[in-house]
Amino acid sequence: MDSLANIESVKGIAHPLYEAGVCALCILRSAVVPIGPAYLESPATIYRALGITQSNSQGPCPACLSILSTELFDQAVAMYKGEEFDCTTVCVNVEMPKSIYVRQKSLQIFNKRTPTEMKDTIKYIIGKRLAESCCVAIDSESEMHIDIAFKHPESAKDHQFLIDREGTTIKTRSFRKKGVDRTEGDSTSAIVADLVQCDESTVQQQFGVPPPAIQEAAEIESVVYRRKPLFVGGRYLKLERNISQTPFVVEGKRVTELSVSEVIGDPIKDLIRCDSYNMVGSGREDADVRMLGDGRPFYIECTNPRRTNITQEQISQIEKHLTETGSAVQCRRLQIIRPEDTKIIKEGEEHKTKHYCALVWFATLLDSETLDEINRLGSGAIELNQATPIRVLHRRAPLVRKRKLLRLDLVHLEGHFYRVRIESEAGTYIKEFVHGDLGRTVPSLSSLAGDITADIIELDVENVSLDFPPAITK
Ligand SMILES: [Zn+2]
Repeated sequence: MDSLANIESVKGIAHPLYEAGVCALCILRSAVVPIGPAYLESPATIYRALGITQSNSQGPCPACLSILSTELFDQAVAMYKGEEFDCTTVCVNVEMPKSIYVRQKSLQIFNKRTPTEMKDTIKYIIGKRLAESCCVAIDSESEMHIDIAFKHPESAKDHQFLIDREGTTIKTRSFRKKGVDRTEGDSTSAIVADLVQCDESTVQQQFGVPPPAIQEAAEIESVVYRRKPLFVGGRYLKLERNISQTPFVVEGKRVTELSVSEVIGDPIKDLIRCDSYNMVGSGREDADVRMLGDGRPFYIECTNPRRTNITQEQISQIEKHLTETGSAVQCRRLQIIRPEDTKIIKEGEEHKTKHYCALVWFATLLDSETLDEINRLGSGAIELNQATPIRVLHRRAPLVRKRKLLRLDLVHLEGHFYRVRIESEAGTYIKEFVHGDLGRTVPSLSSLAGDITADIIELDVENVSLDFPPAITK
């Protein structure tokens, strides 16, 4: 074995370590064998190279808590593989039990040299294993992070002697939270810093050199995957009423059966295989308002996407399916967008204008002069003073805002019914402009008509003038 060619120098310390229950990889670490292929050899091969005859009675390793055992690496790699992320690089972060640092120091005292870092060893081995079975390279700049945490309850108090001794630098504070006794201050960094100060005889007497035996091996506590989110942009249409933009739930009960976010987001989630998603619209209409025309711009942020290598055709399939099945919610221009493109949605908020169409009922028929006068005013801009509507006062501050209607066109349909088309600045409350909101919107359609009671029966948004996302060219 080439990787173990220089193992001769290790032999001197190998036997006493083996006697102390230390595993093959920790013997290599103790001998400061540089991180490399030697650490990928099987324990049997390493022991053979060291001239050690293995006994059957070897328990868990007191130096690494058996974290460096094959099983844990197999487990971590299998877990990652099972997620089927389509990335080519990963960055592995490791969180080890605090005891590892105390045991590292004990090992150092025993061998009179500083062992190779546990963390670096784990990262090297996991990296090699991932490369082998999942075809990914380790890259600290990767958009994919795997955080692996190990636990070992048995050794949780190993560092207590450091805190208890005179001259400790670890400042702990004990408290009770939610019925559980907790201690803070004994962080890994505090322990590592204190171990530098602690003299060797204290470690020897209070803890043990070489590291004392343990009963149980450590286990994987958690594996967390953190991949950069993927953004999908588009424009949505709401062809029916009583559909909210995001799930509308009050006291655990759904108010609307459908939401735009779920109709479009769920199939995207299935395609991208993300943990969750969040939809952000360029403003929103009320649930009872339809969104017609070219639709309203939005983006969906997909957290922890398993797949990011998505073709335009695959994403267009979602749009096509909604159209073909006659869904009440449809979308246009659906596409993967860059994270920076999402800014347009927020920045566009103040500049865009919206076109509305409303069915209005007047208590009294308007005479033709009034109708003409309203349309004459409506051919230019109309300034509104709009106090926060009564219906949103519970969640918005009471303020009077100046808003502008850019255009207004009123047509008599039949009986008491009229149709009004309005182009307005973003942020104008259209329902309140129609009925006046008990005098809180001035002027209103009701006041322009000579204080005739007006009610809004139906409202549609016909256009949102924000060019987002780019049109898809085939
Ligand atoms: Zn070990």
